[in-house]
Amino acid sequence: MSFSLKNKSAILFDMDGVLYDSMPNHSKAWSLAMEKYGMHMSQHDVYLNEGATGHDTIVNVSIRDRGCEASDSEIDEIYGYKAQLFRTMPEARVMPGAQEVFRKAAAAGLKILIVTGSGQKNLIERVQRDYNGYITRDRMVTAFEVTRGKPFPDPYLKGLEIAGVPASQAVVVENAPLGIRASVAAGIDTIAVNTGPLEDDILLAEKPVLLLHSMQELADNLNSLLA
Ligand code: CA
Repeated sequence: MSFSLKNKSAILFDMDGVLYDSMPNHSKAWSLAMEKYGMHMSQHDVYLNEGATGHDTIVNVSIRDRGCEASDSEIDEIYGYKAQLFRTMPEARVMPGAQEVFRKAAAAGLKILIVTGSGQKNLIERVQRDYNGYITRDRMVTAFEVTRGKPFPDPYLKGLEIAGVPASQAVVVENAPLGIRASVAAGIDTIAVNTGPLEDDILLAEKPVLLLHSMQELADNLNSLLA
């Protein structure tokens, strides 16, 4: 691997699909919720839209499947139903290798932040327990901290501001095409971790500096990337 983390002082992690294996639950919930409103969202669609706000996802699918935008009240209803379904799903497991990545990053003196489009309060609370000692709420950018979500660079720019480092000194770990687009637009070197069913080319098209296939693979290579 030619890419190096030697000059980096902060590492910013996306949450769903990176720190938690939560995407299968999101996929199921989206698919069931859309079906109820006469739209269709395949697993592939869910992963392609991952990182976008619920609002934007519903608008995109509605235009595609029904030829019109959804009204604000309908968007609230569909997203509310999707969130309700998501809460009934089994708890997502911590992504294998992710805690080891945190341990090694902290040992190397990197500042650790989480930058997620999620507004799921239970997961935002849970991450502070599962990654205890490495992350606190004030080191997290969530749906509550920004108005414009991914693929806009805003969440990652906010992350840089909190970390107090320029883009050149940060690195992002992302699993979704729109997430990579957001961090690259913020000027940050991005490691893509393809933990879902999308083809590598879809992620590579967003110009990550490196593409891996699991957080365990990142854990195994982190010390050599830092050297
Ligand atoms: Ca993600």
